[in-house]
Amino acid sequence: MRTPILFIWTVVLICCVTTQLQAQESWIDTSIHDGLIELQTKYSFKTLVSNDSINTTTETLSHLNNAKLYFDKIFQTELDFAVLFIENKKWNKHAYFPPPGLPQAGKGNIILGLDKSIVSQEVEKMITQLPKQYWATLKPVYGETINLDLFYRETLAIHELAHLYHFKEGTKPQRKWLQELFATMSMYSFINEQQNSLFDLMNTYPEFVLQSGDRMAEYKTLKDFEEKYVQKLTPQNYEWYQMQLYKAAKSIIDSKGSDILIRLHDFLIRTDLSKTELLTDSELSRRLSAEVGKEIADILTNWMYK
Ligand SMILES: [Zn+2]
Repeated sequence: MRTPILFIWTVVLICCVTTQLQAQESWIDTSIHDGLIELQTKYSFKTLVSNDSINTTTETLSHLNNAKLYFDKIFQTELDFAVLFIENKKWNKHAYFPPPGLPQAGKGNIILGLDKSIVSQEVEKMITQLPKQYWATLKPVYGETINLDLFYRETLAIHELAHLYHFKEGTKPQRKWLQELFATMSMYSFINEQQNSLFDLMNTYPEFVLQSGDRMAEYKTLKDFEEKYVQKLTPQNYEWYQMQLYKAAKSIIDSKGSDILIRLHDFLIRTDLSKTELLTDSELSRRLSAEVGKEIADILTNWMYK
């Protein structure tokens, strides 16, 4: 009579092992991790660097961990992800798309620059060629030499982390602007409520760009943003769109608080194009008003360029 009991235990054991393996199966794309060095940290997420002699990661990691704890609580999950710090010269090998050093996220990875990003270098050069009075407001925040990685890496890393909270469930949003608004609202809310030391770094450069007007933007409609997005707009034009969304995000969170984030997060996932049909602008506007908040629908209705 011992054989059936042994058999049952073997089945139970196999089931347990299988369940554990399934639980451990990760959504993180490790195909881009080859050749990277793992940093030992006190955080729950994995950190990889392309060069462990460049030590510019400590504060960024601490901010990312604080943001993770904040977002986990709001979105009621425990998100697993990896953070990659990549030098510009190795960017194309590990990142999903250019330009080197500009934060990006996808498939469970956040990819950040390890040395000064190409975008920061170019924008800094452009700004410091302008008459000094134009960039006087930037100096007290980003330093004498205007180090814009303090904006592009320190604060946009949080925006990228927020993307992973909807990418995990769906990567085909009804509109790109809606997912960008979500990530920026999440970043703004976290920094405003929990990491105020980053507030000026997050806010000063966008205010500067917004004040300089629309000259840098060839395309200005939301339709153009959907069609062209990152790869078919110039960096300045893409940034112009992001700054308009920043302005909207700031105004919504300041007036409505962070609860709206939960509804927007659920909406992005519920209406992902892998699950539902593409909504027309008027259907989208109606559903945003009903299911998330009128303020979000108003962005679509009141966008200044049609
Ligand atoms: Zn984004």
